[in-house]
Amino acid sequence: MNQPNKAPEQFDAVIVGAGFSGLYMLRRLRQLGLSARIFDSADDVGGTWYWNRYPGARCDIPTTDYAYSFDPGLEKDWAWSEKYATQPEILDYLRFVADRYGLRSGIDFSTAVLSARWDTQDRLWTIQTDRGAQVRCRYYIMASGCLSAPKSPDIDGADRFAGQVYSTSRWPHEGADFTGQRVAVIGTGSSGIQAIPVIARQASRLTVFQRTPNFSVPARNGAASADRLKQLADDRDAYRHAARWSRAGMPVEPTDILGVTASDAVRRERFEGAWEQGELFAILGIFADQGINPASNDIVAGLIREKIRSAVNDPQTAEALCPKDHYFGTKRPCLDTDYFETYNLPHVQLVDLRSQPITSITEHGIDTVGESFDFDAIVYATGFDAMTGALTAVAVTGRDELSLKEKWAAGPSTYLGLMTAGFPNFFMVTGPGSPSVLSNMTVSIEQHVDWIAGCLAYLAGEGLETIEPTALAESGWDQHVRDCAAITLYPTANSWYMGANVRGKPQVFLPYIGGVDTYRRACDDVVAQGYLGFRLTGPGGERCRDGVIRSMQPDVALVLEAMAEMGLPALETLSVADARALMVASAQTRPPAPEVGEVTDAVMPGPGGDLPYRLYRPAEPEGPHPVVVYFHGGGWVLGDLDSDDPLCRDLCARSGTVVVSVNYRHAPEARFPAAALDAFAAVQWVHANASALGGIGGQLAVAGWSAGANIAAVACQLARDAGAPLIAGQLLISPVVDSDLTRPSYAENGDGYLLTTALMRWFWDHYADQADRADVRAAPLRGDLRDLPPACILTADYDPLRDEGMAYAAALKASGTPARHVRARGHTHTSITMVGVVISGAPLRAQLGQALRDFFPPGGHSSSKPHFLA
Ligand SMILES: Cc1cc2nc3c(=O)[nH]c(=O)nc-3n(C[C@H](O)[C@H](O)[C@H](O)COP(=O)(O)OP(=O)(O)OC[C@H]3O[C@@H](n4cnc5c(N)ncnc54)[C@H](O)[C@@H]3O)c2cc1C
Repeated sequence: MNQPNKAPEQFDAVIVGAGFSGLYMLRRLRQLGLSARIFDSADDVGGTWYWNRYPGARCDIPTTDYAYSFDPGLEKDWAWSEKYATQPEILDYLRFVADRYGLRSGIDFSTAVLSARWDTQDRLWTIQTDRGAQVRCRYYIMASGCLSAPKSPDIDGADRFAGQVYSTSRWPHEGADFTGQRVAVIGTGSSGIQAIPVIARQASRLTVFQRTPNFSVPARNGAASADRLKQLADDRDAYRHAARWSRAGMPVEPTDILGVTASDAVRRERFEGAWEQGELFAILGIFADQGINPASNDIVAGLIREKIRSAVNDPQTAEALCPKDHYFGTKRPCLDTDYFETYNLPHVQLVDLRSQPITSITEHGIDTVGESFDFDAIVYATGFDAMTGALTAVAVTGRDELSLKEKWAAGPSTYLGLMTAGFPNFFMVTGPGSPSVLSNMTVSIEQHVDWIAGCLAYLAGEGLETIEPTALAESGWDQHVRDCAAITLYPTANSWYMGANVRGKPQVFLPYIGGVDTYRRACDDVVAQGYLGFRLTGPGGERCRDGVIRSMQPDVALVLEAMAEMGLPALETLSVADARALMVASAQTRPPAPEVGEVTDAVMPGPGGDLPYRLYRPAEPEGPHPVVVYFHGGGWVLGDLDSDDPLCRDLCARSGTVVVSVNYRHAPEARFPAAALDAFAAVQWVHANASALGGIGGQLAVAGWSAGANIAAVACQLARDAGAPLIAGQLLISPVVDSDLTRPSYAENGDGYLLTTALMRWFWDHYADQADRADVRAAPLRGDLRDLPPACILTADYDPLRDEGMAYAAALKASGTPARHVRARGHTHTSITMVGVVISGAPLRAQLGQALRDFFPPGGHSSSKPHFLA
């Protein structure tokens, strides 16, 4: 305890927590020659493995992988006895680690950190513990655990029960003997599922109270996998390297087999293989699409339910144990030993709280609707205030009296899950916004600790004292974390990943789901770019390279990576024939396009001969429908009715309009203005034949993508000039509207995003002579933009055409033509059209579908003002 008037002790760093994270952090700081102190409220090392001593407690990542990898010597000197080690064995391991590296001397046990306050003047943190001590430090590191703040049972009357009460996460050191006792277990998450079969072996009666059934897979514990042991023995470094650069922190070969397209035999074989293996990442990776596609997920979930039904004798109990309210994997799946079989024991009963809720806990037991139970002991397995609970339990006050709890009132906000703006020199190990609980945590912990250590070494080397993320970098990262989650099924579940298990906790997806490998690359890139997005200060001044480390949609980035790996030639280096052949070949690999009511191919007359068209009729509502004349992309040179078929189907289904996709004449065979004239002729013909096509007379819009949007825009200008036909709206998706290739987006996005500046030049060269490129029928941005149909214009961030699209929207508005701009954030020129591949494009295409609907107000006339402009 501090003596009055005695200056607080000062360290370079204070670490909260002596689990896997804190122990390794202390070692790394000492290696850097920094003074550091750990505080832990426990009276020994171990963290999770100190507290969670319930019967049956084990890790659920194989112990070959759930261990430190920073020291090959340590790995040689420690051998695990089982595939999934028990809690006592893991605790022994962490004690062994603490002793081996002499870490205990740096730890104050039985000491809880209550508050931490940043002193801007001295650039130091002041830490207050429950022992009265105050210490000061330059760096404050919370290694306080993602699953270390237990959630209170939150049940009426919980304090009334006169029998024994246990919590899985605060289990007594002397253990518990349930022999001959009537025991209740409340909660069927990972801990409950591990404990129930073991408690059932002792108790005279066991009653399990289940709110939500969980998916669980047999652990098949036993000896460690011979295959993994061999890989480690053969080349430890390669194995550990592969784990660090894997998606989840374990070297698991990813599959590209899709659940939706695999045959029944393949589905069954892959499922049974994973079921036999008894590893979480195996069952989570049966199909490449099970985490994103509901239909694929249903296949896996259905097969697991089949297993549950065959394991549990009583059909009603089996049904109650079958999870049906969330997609498999969107809540952490469990690994068990005889969990479902335990319900076949005569003294074990399941109470399904959805049909029989608890009304209160009484002195003698538990009252439910319709039934009262007497118990000798109640075991709470009710989980944790995950990821943020331990962080906000400490009163952390940053710059300008900013409190962490207040800052995170609507959900946590971090840069890389490592730091948060307003809190200089405050680090989190596996904080929200990092892969943490979605990964093998030992790998994620080592990566975070190494990053922090590297950062502190850098600061020391540069004579700097403080580091703090910028608001821009942090909001960019938060957005990226959300973008990654949004393309998966995970946010659909009421899970602790979402904070949904804690009353009043804001529901946001807490961890980073982009992958351990992707995440590590982002962290490394931040460093390589001079600590991008961090403000660094010291006696030598201040430096800050502000920016956002990842702003591309994650699935768009994956597509670009995959395409880069294919090593396809740049289109502009090919002959026109070869470029067209390449386009046709790549279209073969697309997933099935959305269903529509009817698709028919036919021809219409055009100025240079017949023009093929494909008509898409929506399945509903019943016709007639408004009609949209659509023009495909491809730089006036490439593309045809097939190239944009998925997009046309998608627009048709979303908008409830008849879409008539027209194959206009292409360059170089038919150069400017053939395509534009064909487009105008097609619009005239469709207008004249609307009823025969199943359309509503007078309800006509145009749409197009890229060069197709160019001729759609031109057709609108020609129709206006001709006084007919009346067009209700123009949907221009990443349009070409000018021939000026010097706009900034051509420089920023001119290379690397499929449509390159060089390819645009190639397109223009094939399409139009220099002299023609200023013609308003080639560059509609240069035309008279008054009295044109209302427009909806989509521009993509990573598109050379971005700026001209935005310029067109602005110019239309300036001319009095209503125009709505849809920004495709994080998209490329092509990604928005990749129906069924780029999931993040779907909400944007929903907006486009709505824009088409809005061109045709129900019961309205085509000339009336569209909804979105009203
Ligand atoms: C039952 C269970 C099984 C698990 N199995 C696995 C698994 O198989 N694989 C896997 O990857 N992950 C697993 N986890 C997650 C596990 O939490 C991590 O793997 C890892 O142990 C976390 O280590 P840590 O040091 O970051 O945090 P913890 O081990 O949680 O340690 C944090 C420490 O900080 C201390 N602390 C917190 N706040 C304060 C404060 N204010 N003052 C003082 N001390 C404080 C706590 O007392 C605790 O000792 C499991 C978690 C649980 C609960």
